[in-house]
Amino acid sequence: MRRTIARRLLDRLFRTGEVVEAEQITARMRRVRIAGEDLGELRWTPGQHVRLLVGAGGPLGGVLRTYSIWWYDPTWGVVDLIGYDHGGDSPGVAWIRNARPGQEVSFTRPEGSFVVREEAPYHLFAGEETASVAFGAMVRALPAGAGVHGVVEAGEPGDHLDLPGGLVKVCRGGASAARSQVLVDAVRELELPDGPGVAYLAGEARTIQAVRAHLVGERGWSRGDVRTKPFWTPGRRGMD
Ligand SMILES: Cc1cc2nc3c(=O)[nH]c(=O)nc-3n(C[C@H](O)[C@H](O)[C@H](O)COP(=O)(O)OP(=O)(O)OC[C@H]3O[C@@H](n4cnc5c(N)ncnc54)[C@H](O)[C@@H]3O)c2cc1C
Repeated sequence: MRRTIARRLLDRLFRTGEVVEAEQITARMRRVRIAGEDLGELRWTPGQHVRLLVGAGGPLGGVLRTYSIWWYDPTWGVVDLIGYDHGGDSPGVAWIRNARPGQEVSFTRPEGSFVVREEAPYHLFAGEETASVAFGAMVRALPAGAGVHGVVEAGEPGDHLDLPGGLVKVCRGGASAARSQVLVDAVRELELPDGPGVAYLAGEARTIQAVRAHLVGERGWSRGDVRTKPFWTPGRRGMD
């Protein structure tokens, strides 16, 4: 009985698929491909994310962790996520690390407003590994010829995803991704066209604040030109 209720709840709130591939694509990033009949024709705008049901306990006891969709094929019902291994043992990273073909996984429908603005003089992206997943999908969705600038920070050179758009790659080495001066300095050094574009800042919350402060305070952008999405920050669990 309890199992039936749980199944009904799962079906109403979540889409369910099966892991069909899991591949280490950088030293600390792992792509997980999920497929299934339930995943066809989802409404997804690049930049949007899903919330995975992970941890022990299923629909009644699991927890939700948020991951951007890197790539989606609506015809075949195939979703690719990429997770960054931040080294802890928390539910999200443990799921990414241990995902294997044959596992069932449930997640919410795609959601979120961190997507590209269609009308923009140019687009500026800045963030670290976690943000680079959304950035890949967003840059691929831009029309041909759109101006793209930006910086992606990773721990080491081997941690960078292969992204379109010629984004500058920087490394923080052993420094923390939280309050990252490396990312702020790299954005400060960018040669940008005259006047503001639209910025997309994601990743660690306080680093994002510092990059926004630079754009608004030093480059004279308005706050409306800057879209931000905090993905995580030290001590907070399961931000979405
Ligand atoms: C809209 C959105 C989209 C996201 N997309 C992606 C994505 O595509 N790929 C991806 O890898 N992540 C993504 N994230 C970030 C991911 O949801 C968080 O890293 C999440 O905290 C991981 O869950 P967890 O269970 O491992 O850690 P939690 O239980 O949430 O946190 C445990 C501890 O780990 C710390 N922590 C969490 N993330 C990091 C990190 N990156 N570096 C260092 N410490 C960390 C927390 O501060 C906390 O102290 C996204 C987040 C949001 C809100």
